[in-house]
Amino acid sequence: MDIDILPVGPIQTNCYLITCRSTREALLIDPGWNDPGILSAIKKREALVRAVVNTHAHWDHIGGNAAAVKETGARFGIHEIEVPLLNRRGGAEFWGVPLEPSPEPDFYLVPGDTLSIGQLQFQVLFTPGHTPGHISLYEANRGAVFDGDVLFKDGIGRTDLPGGDSAQLADSIEKVLLALPDDTVVYPGHGPQTTIGSERQENPWILAWLD
Ligand SMILES: [Zn+2]
Repeated sequence: MDIDILPVGPIQTNCYLITCRSTREALLIDPGWNDPGILSAIKKREALVRAVVNTHAHWDHIGGNAAAVKETGARFGIHEIEVPLLNRRGGAEFWGVPLEPSPEPDFYLVPGDTLSIGQLQFQVLFTPGHTPGHISLYEANRGAVFDGDVLFKDGIGRTDLPGGDSAQLADSIEKVLLALPDDTVVYPGHGPQTTIGSERQENPWILAWLD
């Protein structure tokens, strides 16, 4: 598994290109902006992008959907609950951000399902709270979780935007993410990667809840 971390757009959203080393098939997570760096990374890896997915539909995670789908011909998926927010361009107008509308989903990410990309198996975890239909993608064999805006290094996702719910977010972190093995690498939607174990031990929000 090769992982390219591509920070894109005005608030440097981490777009992830994850490529299966055996088959070159790839998954593109959260192309948040139409940044030429995404296509360059795909070309450099000689990646065959099979799916473009969003962890959730905020504008900074969906802004490059249209370009990515057009350039790769990949199928686009998101949790069904996020579609109304997707259709509102993830709140882009409220923030005054120009954004090309996202294509309609070709498939829905259903919690409990597994998305197979080459030899990689991404389990769809339901992690609402930051938005109502936020999902995370967990590759158990490689010990990696791509968790969007749920858990960050030393931080958690904000819940003050429309559809946010702090109790739901706490549940998603405690019951879903902290249930993963400590050595699982967390690839968040913004900022540096971390591990489940180090967040369990050092994340001030989690320490306060567990107090
Ligand atoms: Zn967000």
